[in-house]
Amino acid sequence: MSVAAWRPSHNFSAAAGPLPPEVAEEVAAACRCWRGTGSVLSLPFTSEAFRQLQYETEASLRRLLRITCAHRLLFLQGGASAQFALAPLNLLGSSDCAAYVDTGHWSRRAMAEAARYCRVLLPEHDGSHVHALALARLEPHAAYLHITSNETANGFQFPSLPVTTLPLVVDMTSDFLTRVVAFSRIGMMYASTQKTLGAPGLTLVFIREDMLGRAQPATPSVMNYAAQAEASSRLNTPPVFAIFVAHAMLCWIERQGGLEAMTQAATRRSAAVYQALDQGGGFYRPSVAVRDRSRINPCFQIADEALTACFLAQAQAAGLSDLQGHPNVGGIRVSIYNGTSDAAVAALVAFLREFHRVYG
Ligand code: PMP
Repeated sequence: MSVAAWRPSHNFSAAAGPLPPEVAEEVAAACRCWRGTGSVLSLPFTSEAFRQLQYETEASLRRLLRITCAHRLLFLQGGASAQFALAPLNLLGSSDCAAYVDTGHWSRRAMAEAARYCRVLLPEHDGSHVHALALARLEPHAAYLHITSNETANGFQFPSLPVTTLPLVVDMTSDFLTRVVAFSRIGMMYASTQKTLGAPGLTLVFIREDMLGRAQPATPSVMNYAAQAEASSRLNTPPVFAIFVAHAMLCWIERQGGLEAMTQAATRRSAAVYQALDQGGGFYRPSVAVRDRSRINPCFQIADEALTACFLAQAQAAGLSDLQGHPNVGGIRVSIYNGTSDAAVAALVAFLREFHRVYG
């Protein structure tokens, strides 16, 4: 084996987040046997053991998010992309329009899907600041206001939730459980779990009780929030394994100190990355204004764009992989999810400084 093979390898993919080693160990062990029931991979969703797992997962989410029984929690499939259609299908009621804040790639994907079901209204905004007057003009008509709290492809993040009297619908796929948010102010939230909470296959939805029951009649039953809430998300087979992994991650997050600890880690680690970028004297160009910079997906360009391919190749050789920007955006993107290690971030920061020293 070559010496290079011993170099630690750190993955910064935006598509899926790493599991902390102790969680990965727990998952591996449960694939052989879990709580004396056999492999978790073949745990029937109809069993008492699964009900207990789902109950514990929900209880942990409620503790971490500090949400009460005014919100229902749903365990669905189809990814966040399915919610782009299911939100309008379930929430429009008798309204023919909804408001969407256009902040980048993923909010546009949500808008394109919603446009198949309703008129999409676009309130004026300046980064994360949504103009109150623009919203007031929309308010009598729109069924809800949709935001993407963290734009994974563009490196933009709402520092806090916009103020609105409309029900707020939030795609939190890439920053769910990475920060303390006033969850009680949210009407409906959705997030697929492969980035910050484990494995692909599970999409979490939480929705205020009074927003249930507005689905269009043609909505398929398994995609009808009220029907799934009524059936405790077991109208059909839920994604059992992904729920198990989310449960293991939730226990880990609680052991670390909950959302306060996740917020501190994300703030500290992204600050170290931005500091290395800002100290490059213009060599690196962060893509987003300071106020709205993502603490999860810092994105930047190298001023001399011809160096981008060299940066990516050298980073890969140094054991830092998947740093290329989103295909529609280009440049470089760092993804720091809950399970990313401090060692990975430290290695990246050292690489940023060294690359600037050599090529700056
Ligand atoms: N919204 C955001 C903010 C995302 O980052 C992604 C995935 N990168 C999606 C939605 C789509 O998620 P899924 O692949 O689970 O449908």
